[in-house]
Amino acid sequence: MAKRELEDSEELRAAIDDLNKKVAGDPEREEHILRMEETEEHEAESRRPAETEDGYDLPEEEFTEDYDDEIAVKNFEDRINDTVPMGGIGDIVISSDEALREDRELRGAEASERRTRREAVKKEGFRRKRRKGKHADDVIISLEGVSKSYVKGVPALNDVNITIKKGEFVFIVGDSGSGKSTLIRLLLRELKPTTGSIWVNGFQVEKLRRGRIPKLRRSMGIVFQDFKLLKDRNVYENVAFAQRIIQVPSREMKRNVPDILATVGLAGKYKARPNELSGGEQQRVALARALVNKPPILLADEPTGNLDPRNTIEIMKLLEKINKDGTTVVVVTHNDKIVNEMQKRVITIKKGVVVSDEETGGYGDED
Ligand code: ADP
Ligand code: MG
Repeated sequence: MAKRELEDSEELRAAIDDLNKKVAGDPEREEHILRMEETEEHEAESRRPAETEDGYDLPEEEFTEDYDDEIAVKNFEDRINDTVPMGGIGDIVISSDEALREDRELRGAEASERRTRREAVKKEGFRRKRRKGKHADDVIISLEGVSKSYVKGVPALNDVNITIKKGEFVFIVGDSGSGKSTLIRLLLRELKPTTGSIWVNGFQVEKLRRGRIPKLRRSMGIVFQDFKLLKDRNVYENVAFAQRIIQVPSREMKRNVPDILATVGLAGKYKARPNELSGGEQQRVALARALVNKPPILLADEPTGNLDPRNTIEIMKLLEKINKDGTTVVVVTHNDKIVNEMQKRVITIKKGVVVSDEETGGYGDED
């Protein structure tokens, strides 16, 4: 594979994940979505006339001239169709043409289905009771007897049972190779468990049809050790990109992106390219990108693995703030110093087995 293509596929990995997020719909939550849509429509309606400010005190063309929304999304679709080696982006198997077509069809079909249902509900003048989920309302992530073997008989995770409530901050710690990333990838449905079941934000993850995976993934913002920013885009565009992919109206986007950049303390660096930023700043851009679409869950896989102690502390403080603002935060790390200092719930995994789960624990407490 040519070098350029390789770079493209690296950068496009995140792009594809995000692009996939466009699909709507989940039977488990139809009623919920229906209500949400009605509320959102109503809110959008009542907001519209008053909304005149962009929220960014800068010339608009700085970040909009090359990026008409529809064209941007179309271009990315085309780029993905043209350049991504089909059949493997990490372990996510995507046949892009087919997936995009399915996405569109699904979106169309589900939108029309919801419209019909909404009309029916209105006509009959009642609302069906929301179907009761399997879990209590305050549980957002749950793994029940989850095992995963990449090689038959060699479990990378072995009978894992974890329940995480909405608004929790949880560290997952363990030596290299203990199965932490496997756990994250199971939550994202990049992998399916060999046995057991996984629930994330109301989705039964291992049973989801492929077409619904993007909807699941919209529940989770993700940051990685190596940031995964688009190198040829500035800070603003790296964050805005996540919004373009889910087709947030440009007016809203111009408010959301500066807001989240301010939250991560990068409002002044919106024009910088990733290579002009420190590691800590790059990770903050990645955090902004993960959070701009307001997912209820943030997953961070070794987010400070490439950072010095000072930046590590800053990123951790930021994660704490994000959590205080209501996001459920799951951080995989083996920085024992940080874990001990932060006094959060700590789940320790050893060779695929959960060996301890402490409310305000420390790293390696069980030793
Ligand atoms: P951690 O993130 O805690 O370092 P991983 O979840 O990456 O651990 O890996 C857990 C175990 O699963 C390791 O033994 C690793 O070698 C194995 N493993 C991870 N990914 C794969 C894969 N794609 N194929 C085969 N084995 C894998
Ligand atoms: Mg790992």
